[in-house]
Amino acid sequence: MNQILPESLIAKLFPNDLPSAEEWKEKYPQRKLPEGAMVTRLGPSPTGLMHLGGVYASLISERFAHQTNGVFFLRIEDTDEARSQPETTEVIVKSLDFFNIPVDEGMTVSGEEKGNYGPYTQSARAKLYQTFAKQLIEQGKAYPCFCTPEETNTLGEQQMKEGIRPGYYGKWAKWRDASPEEVEAELSKGTPYVIRLRSNGDFEHKIKVHDLLKGDLELSENDIDKKIFVPATGLPRYHLAHVIDDHFMGTTHVLRGDEWLSSVPLHLELFEALGWKPPEYGHLAPIQKTEDGSKKRKLSKRKDPEANAMLYQEEGFPSESVVEYLLNLANSDFEDWRKANPEKDNREFSLTFERLARSNGPLLDFVKLNDVSKEIVSKMSAAEIYDRGLSWAKQYHPKLAEEMEKDPDYTKNALNIEREGAPRPRKDIGTWSDLYAETGYFFDPIFQNQEPVSDELFGAAKDDAGAIVNAFFETFNENDTKDEWFEKIKEIGRKLGYADGAKAYKLEPEKYKGQVGDVAKIFRVLLTGKTNTPDLYSIMKVMGKERVMERLKRVL
Ligand code: GLU
Repeated sequence: MNQILPESLIAKLFPNDLPSAEEWKEKYPQRKLPEGAMVTRLGPSPTGLMHLGGVYASLISERFAHQTNGVFFLRIEDTDEARSQPETTEVIVKSLDFFNIPVDEGMTVSGEEKGNYGPYTQSARAKLYQTFAKQLIEQGKAYPCFCTPEETNTLGEQQMKEGIRPGYYGKWAKWRDASPEEVEAELSKGTPYVIRLRSNGDFEHKIKVHDLLKGDLELSENDIDKKIFVPATGLPRYHLAHVIDDHFMGTTHVLRGDEWLSSVPLHLELFEALGWKPPEYGHLAPIQKTEDGSKKRKLSKRKDPEANAMLYQEEGFPSESVVEYLLNLANSDFEDWRKANPEKDNREFSLTFERLARSNGPLLDFVKLNDVSKEIVSKMSAAEIYDRGLSWAKQYHPKLAEEMEKDPDYTKNALNIEREGAPRPRKDIGTWSDLYAETGYFFDPIFQNQEPVSDELFGAAKDDAGAIVNAFFETFNENDTKDEWFEKIKEIGRKLGYADGAKAYKLEPEKYKGQVGDVAKIFRVLLTGKTNTPDLYSIMKVMGKERVMERLKRVL
């Protein structure tokens, strides 16, 4: 029989003005949602940066909620006062905003909360937890424990030494069956204490658990008398807070990192102890990276800069590129869907639990992310690239911003080469920072700052560079059409012994010094400092005669 403490003693453990369980039920009524609607949430602990895995979990949770006309909310889990850094809440909110993951309830960027199930920060919900911690004690399902942390540590060490599974359970749970007198004596001495679950579980007994992602599992029942509440802070530990909050906030599907999988038996026991129906659980495998080229490991918050969600903003990835990439990682059939629906908004894609990455964590691959991003940027208009690139550059690359802004039309024209309406739009921009490397040469100060062009870059026509430019000066007309212009380049080449095209050159290589591409390369390298650029005619057009002449002159 569970030891039930007398009411007079329990009254000493909690404030006497706690609302009743009934009152809480009235305050947080069941949600009225359409059949099948999912209520999901992100419950981050504000303990540092926003992990990419947090964005991944939010994205998946948010999509499931919204594709079923449900609700996605954000709850800040700050009950561990020692580890919480309140300023991180802002980082979390801003990350979700940056990645366009809409939150229906919880903290917003304006710094105000929305939603009817709040407050959405656990430290502001103390009374709610107290009502139920008290109820558990009243029902003999929890009890105060006066062990010091040193005592429980020593217990664990002792158990390990003896080859026993460590933990505060069964006969090692010293305060589990303490008499009211013993409890009273410690209370009157003012001994600090915690409240523990009085577990009825049997570790040898397995329970069947269906995980939305990992499938049917058999897990040992929980038998640990876990700490669930810390009176000194007035707050619960994570496990109790999770159960109470997800009950009252109406969460139907808990999607969280699989480090919590082993806690499911404890959580189910707590739901049962409180008489509530548990949500469905889906445990997400963590995003991984490869180390030393092959070994896979979990992305680490401390070791890997790419674990920081804000890094992607700093690097200049458009947020939708990261989202699109994360969907690729999440759902195995997203890529096929995208191929079949190149123009559709990815919101039209429905995630399914069956296709969600399961036991093996998806592998983060920057090359792939960049490719996904280049594809997305290639569909943007020059004006959009200008606006978004500039706003990024203002924050992270002032030099680029300064140049882009000097003559917005010039910049937009440069960005528009082989873009809007082009049969195959350019795919050279994956991040806004690529604007510097890929289009920086349009701006004189940036161009002048580039590495001086080495002769090597000129290629086969290197020795004729001066002659080519001289001949060009004689015939250049800014108003030439592309065909006229190209004819002139060919003519210059012919006179100097270059074939009209690669084919002609291949047939009789001994006859020529090279071909027209080699001639064009002289212009390309002189104008841009690069051997690979978009269409040369368009570049000259955008740069204008004066700039073109100025740059070509250097070779003479
Ligand atoms: N606060 C927990 C964490 O940050 C959340 C776990 C959950 O989603 O239930 O890991």
